[in-house]
Amino acid sequence: MTIASGHDLAGPRPARRRSSASSAPSADPDLEAKALAIHQRLCPVYGCPIPYFHSLDPLSELVSSLLSHRTRNADSGRAFKALRARYPDWAALLDAPVPEIEAAIAGVTWPELKAPRIQAILRAVMERHGSLSLDFLAGLEVEAARAWLEAIPGVGPKTSAAVLSFSVLRMPALPVDSHHHRVAQRTGLIGPKVDVGPSHPILRAQLPADWSAQALYDNHEILMLHGQAVCHHRNPACGACVLLDLCPTGQARQAGTAPA
Ligand code: SF4
Repeated sequence: MTIASGHDLAGPRPARRRSSASSAPSADPDLEAKALAIHQRLCPVYGCPIPYFHSLDPLSELVSSLLSHRTRNADSGRAFKALRARYPDWAALLDAPVPEIEAAIAGVTWPELKAPRIQAILRAVMERHGSLSLDFLAGLEVEAARAWLEAIPGVGPKTSAAVLSFSVLRMPALPVDSHHHRVAQRTGLIGPKVDVGPSHPILRAQLPADWSAQALYDNHEILMLHGQAVCHHRNPACGACVLLDLCPTGQARQAGTAPA
């Protein structure tokens, strides 16, 4: 793994817009310190600042995020390209027959559910905003932009944060995927019963409120990458983990006292 220079770990660049941490529950100072220590420990390993993997407009990023749910990146990327080739203008997808959309995205998980859902969500954007664009979100605070997106049935906190963070909007929002969530749970940043959705405001509140979009994106990416590379779902490689001294789960596993 390449070791690149990190962003300024002592003080990442300030956010352009107020982030959703402003209304998040206040965090335990010990967990804030641990979240920062984990960030500082993983950043040099995975090479912060992490390059953005997409430069899509926010509506296209929304479609991409919906396709990616429980699907490998390569498969959802192929499906997105197929959808784009079939419907170069998203307006053309609005009235397309659902089986035709389903055929275009056949490589993703649950295409029969995702095809009508994508169409319904695009219709909701059209009805609520009057045009098929989410570019206007750039003028909102993060919190308001997330609330606007999450008011659409089928759009949850992970998707809303992904649209704001991964698209060209580059807004300071923190998505949490299943790998990120697993590392956060095992290291004790969140409790064992906190699901992915409710973990979003908790994990965001543990990080400095003025962190930039890049710093929050890095935080998401390094925890996700660590979950993929080391903190596997089955058999995490605790003996080789740079977080071992910060992680009660890893320490219990090493001591042989972890529950099965
Ligand atoms: S010590 Fe083990 S359980 Fe903890 S983060 Fe590292 S790999 Fe995961």
